[in-house]
Amino acid sequence: MNNFPFARIDLSALRHNLKKVRQLAPQSQVMSVIKADAYGHGVAQVAAALSDSDAFAVARLDEAIQLRKLGFEQRIVILEGVHSLQQMQLAAEFALCPVIHQQAHVNWLRHPSANRIPFVWLMLETGMHRLGLSASVIRELIAALIQVFPDKVGLMSHFANSDLRDDPRNASQLDVIKDLAEETELPICVANSAAVLNLPDSHHDWVRPGLMLYGISPFADQSGLDLGLQPAMQLQSVLIATQQLQKGDQVGYGGEWVAVHSCRMGVVSIGYGDGFSRHLTNRGQVVIRETLLPVIGRVSMDTICILLDDCPEATTGDQVTLWGTPLLPVEAQAKAAQTIPYELTTVLAGRVTRKVV
Ligand code: PLP
Repeated sequence: MNNFPFARIDLSALRHNLKKVRQLAPQSQVMSVIKADAYGHGVAQVAAALSDSDAFAVARLDEAIQLRKLGFEQRIVILEGVHSLQQMQLAAEFALCPVIHQQAHVNWLRHPSANRIPFVWLMLETGMHRLGLSASVIRELIAALIQVFPDKVGLMSHFANSDLRDDPRNASQLDVIKDLAEETELPICVANSAAVLNLPDSHHDWVRPGLMLYGISPFADQSGLDLGLQPAMQLQSVLIATQQLQKGDQVGYGGEWVAVHSCRMGVVSIGYGDGFSRHLTNRGQVVIRETLLPVIGRVSMDTICILLDDCPEATTGDQVTLWGTPLLPVEAQAKAAQTIPYELTTVLAGRVTRKVV
């Protein structure tokens, strides 16, 4: 008996998507991004499925230590970097690779206890204006770092607009990287999923995809399936009640949906307490018996209501799919919620069991 709702996590889809990355970037090593509990898919099982990766990347020190304690021996990169000497020392103790984006980080690296750090990535500012140091500062840092960490330094940067296929800002970010790469001959890591898929010039020594590993597209006009990826998460629940409505009946808190004729509605066990976005109020869809059905009224904490007009045979106990099927990919549900698929999967609550298949 399943507890509902649950997320089916398809490990073979993850492996397929990693292969796809390798096909697209055959000359590059792959740093798989599994931060935020592997974009909500469950980091332990995802890391195991993606253990062929040449490295893992997470955002924070705690996430990296968790992976080490789970027994993963790959290189583990901390994308946000570390924020104190003590954190740098912990990074060294667990043989983790910090991203360096502040000059102070370099002083901490000079501490003798930091010398167990296997590799450091210097984050270059190329146009994202988030974390990163200018090319001129990085030139100076390289000179200082190479003495302490010979052959253990790489250059990293991050695209701000790679999901926009023809945006000229992608090329200008790449130009900054290329100039420094030629000068320093250090390994380069810049390509996220959109760049793996659409900017082959950006692949360099390492690619750094996240979203596409989960079978999800970074582009607004294509789904993961369109790109030859396989969705790794299917969110499922169950129809727990049905009810006949009369013309004029209001559904849910605030009565934000009103029946214009007599109709049948259903109640699904999922709500914002599970991470199902309240922005899907009157906008989301679900699938029952291969039929798309609309969410009606406000999303509650534990339930949503749906209109059953297009599926008169739907009955209590029926399986309901919230996303992750060809009829309803997570990209479509995210668009309805006026957000991005990254957010929908990442905010799924702990009470939604991740069930590995
Ligand atoms: N690199 C950095 C620094 C990131 O912040 C992210 C994602 O947020 C990624 C790589 C992976 O990007 P994507 O999931 O679009 O492939």
